[in-house]
Amino acid sequence: MTDFPSPSDRPKTAHSAAFRLFRPIFFAVGAIGATVGAVIVIHHQAETQIAAATPPSAPALPSIALPDPEPVPPITTADFKGFDLKPADQQADAEPPASDRYELTLRLERGDTVEKVLADINVPEADRKQIDAALKALLKKRRLAVGESIDLQLQTMSDQPDAPRVLTLSIRPQPQREYIVTRRDDGSYEALEKIYQVRPRIVRVDAVRRGSLQQSGMKAGAPTAAILEFIRALSYDVDFQRELKEGQHFTLLLEQQVTSDGHVADPGRLLAGELRLTNRTITVMRFRPQGGADGFYDPKGESVVRSFLRTPMDASHITSGFGMRMHPIMGFSAMHTGVDFGAPIGTPIFAAGAGKVVTAGSNGGYGIFVKLQHTSQIGTGYGHMSRLGPGIRPGVSVRQGQVIGFVGSTGLSTGPHLHYEFYRNGHPVNPLAQKFAMRAVVGGKDLARFRVLSRQYLNELKNAPPIAEASAPAKAKENSQFARDE
Ligand SMILES: [Zn+2]
Repeated sequence: MTDFPSPSDRPKTAHSAAFRLFRPIFFAVGAIGATVGAVIVIHHQAETQIAAATPPSAPALPSIALPDPEPVPPITTADFKGFDLKPADQQADAEPPASDRYELTLRLERGDTVEKVLADINVPEADRKQIDAALKALLKKRRLAVGESIDLQLQTMSDQPDAPRVLTLSIRPQPQREYIVTRRDDGSYEALEKIYQVRPRIVRVDAVRRGSLQQSGMKAGAPTAAILEFIRALSYDVDFQRELKEGQHFTLLLEQQVTSDGHVADPGRLLAGELRLTNRTITVMRFRPQGGADGFYDPKGESVVRSFLRTPMDASHITSGFGMRMHPIMGFSAMHTGVDFGAPIGTPIFAAGAGKVVTAGSNGGYGIFVKLQHTSQIGTGYGHMSRLGPGIRPGVSVRQGQVIGFVGSTGLSTGPHLHYEFYRNGHPVNPLAQKFAMRAVVGGKDLARFRVLSRQYLNELKNAPPIAEASAPAKAKENSQFARDE
């Protein structure tokens, strides 16, 4: 079933083999329709001309007599076994042999109504009014979106080949909700709403980085929200500019929501992810501690979120480290109480963590300087700024990553750079040595639960069904709905 033959000679709108047999008829009907359409258009545009130009023996309308195609085998129920259409099958016995059945998918355009769409394909007015009424009663005030697909099962009647009969009309605005209008034996239409059960399914997306992580992940089938969440979880630990390389592999573990008939209702929420860098592999997994919110943790249970950014600037490089050095201006050996990051004037400086501004303004050799207090013990300082960030003044609160100022060369400085200090209990310490110190850890009652989940995710990152395989049966089922063995 999954090995569906190439549909090279198969019309896109109708998948049935029966369509192929009757294609010449459709073309004839189409030609008639087109001609009638053309006549109507002309009629609208130039009423007088058409009256004068059309002789009584209108030459354009081709004869309704159908061309004789290759011999047509008798239609049996086997031809329609793909139809999931109980009422119509039952009525097939009672009625004269059907001319043909086929399916058609149409889309609601801007300003369309279902009735208008049906009118466009020549469904008799009485039928389309009934269908419209039945559907309206079901939808109540819900509106169908532009672009919504309308799946039709149609039947061409031998006595009225240009006006197809609607056997069923189906609209599925959500994977778990389908509205179906079906023709009854007596020719009336009834509408019903079908609700599909939704259940979770765990799948794996294996991707190789070519270009951006986001594009590569999406190309491999991951939903945008999941890949963005993955990137955010990595961003505290991975230096994207230096550590990411072309060809690196990464894997996402997703929990999808799938309906009982294989439609994906939710393309997948990120459960875990793994990125294989040159020298290390980073694994993140979703966990919700008791009484807390969802977050991402490494397999040992440390939160990926750091209280402090790796560096308070983008695209910076260290020009002077923490410790004793020869002072470039003073000319003698002194303690360098921070780390210098070289960057062009005007580069934004971010608050390394959430906190309160305690100092903002000129401060001797530090030039324009900002000091933030994050906790009772921890503070950070930023020197030599060209100017302060918007709204930065003593007493205001800042969020992690908020712009608190811009790189400059004020105070005792030989060139544009940020002098960054990190304080513990008021004493400057090496900021680069603090980076692993402040992560939340899963603990207490949560730990046992996390360990089970962590083992499960690590296993599933390797062994869960790949997303392409998991989705394939549903797709094949859709495509072959009206196919039969050929
Ligand atoms: Zn410095």
